[in-house]
Amino acid sequence: MSPPILPGATVGVLGSGQLGRMFAIAARRMGYRVHTLSPDDDTPTGQVADLEVKAPYEDLEAVARFARQVSVVTFEFENVPARTAQVAAEHAPVRPSGAVLHTTQHRGREKEFLSEAGLPLAPWARVRSLADLEAALATLGCPAVLKTAGWGYDGKGQVKVARPEDAAAAWERLGVEDAVLEAFVDFEREVSVVAARGVGGAFAHYGVIANDHANHILDVSVAPAPVSAALVDEAVALARTVLELLDVVGVLCVELFVTRDGRLLVNELAPRPHNSGHLTFDACVTSQFEQQLRAICGLPLGSTELLRPAAMANLLGDAWQPGEPDWAAALALPEVKLHLYGKLVPRPGRKMGHLTALGATPEEARARVVEARARLAPTSPGRTGG
Ligand code: AMP
Repeated sequence: MSPPILPGATVGVLGSGQLGRMFAIAARRMGYRVHTLSPDDDTPTGQVADLEVKAPYEDLEAVARFARQVSVVTFEFENVPARTAQVAAEHAPVRPSGAVLHTTQHRGREKEFLSEAGLPLAPWARVRSLADLEAALATLGCPAVLKTAGWGYDGKGQVKVARPEDAAAAWERLGVEDAVLEAFVDFEREVSVVAARGVGGAFAHYGVIANDHANHILDVSVAPAPVSAALVDEAVALARTVLELLDVVGVLCVELFVTRDGRLLVNELAPRPHNSGHLTFDACVTSQFEQQLRAICGLPLGSTELLRPAAMANLLGDAWQPGEPDWAAALALPEVKLHLYGKLVPRPGRKMGHLTALGATPEEARARVVEARARLAPTSPGRTGG
């Protein structure tokens, strides 16, 4: 096993969003230097990193130069082209590997992997034409969800198909040649397991986190999730199987549906820290970002102990309508923590930051974070003025 990459070394991040920013904060706190590469500048990650390289992922010379200057490369954006990961790997270890990216950046390949591993998922079919879609609808029934095979996240590239006669319109609306159709899951709740695996195979997990979505985007996460101990064991075992079979070194999140009859179905995999794990920053001994750093540097994994129940509420650009949110009103709740990602333009639907609240119980944490977010609205009764 190669020796650990120790504090003082430089770690490279492909991608420059909020996940990279929080990773960079964790890494700098432990005395590492951080370089980031993405096609943008003045990015959430770049604002915190020691060096921000602006280059397209397809600029393989820039990628090679970037990788030569760091001891290990990770990513915070899973749609980095496979070739980029390959070129980086010629100069530094890439963790998780390009092979993990290859599987998880394409819904068809990901579902094939999960099916072959015998892991539970909703009935699905690969769809490459309208005829395929019609055949799949006949097998899977309606309603169903048609999703692009690549580049999908936060409900982007998805169309719900309510009736077989809507197939042509749905196919046209999706506008791609490579898709999957999934049976619609009438779930009781959505949950996730954020887990990490070290260079030597050590495994750590953050238990089960409950997730509420609004408009297909994560809205509120609560830990621990209100589920049985048996379901936690099952979900964690499933996550462990995924990390081991994919030979992940780093952090990976498994998003799951809990069906009304108590079964778990995998929705999707994210081979990186996950929005539902942001609460680990304030609520756990080791955050998911520090854990990613420890894993990719070959260090021992840290304790994932949840110190207190916690809840996280996302702040989308919508919160800036009609004006700057009332930060002081939200922070008047002393158990509430504010995270802002340094994004300059608060577009509706864009993840701009999040709030975390701790509580004596998960319900209390949730109520606090929801109240804190409501206080941001300029018209809210909690507004202090101005
Ligand atoms: P995704 O981008 O695939 O994670 O989808 C975003 C959200 O859309 C999920 O978190 C669910 O709330 C919803 N969704 C996706 N697929 C399905 C499905 N097959 N059945 C029901 N809801 C779904």
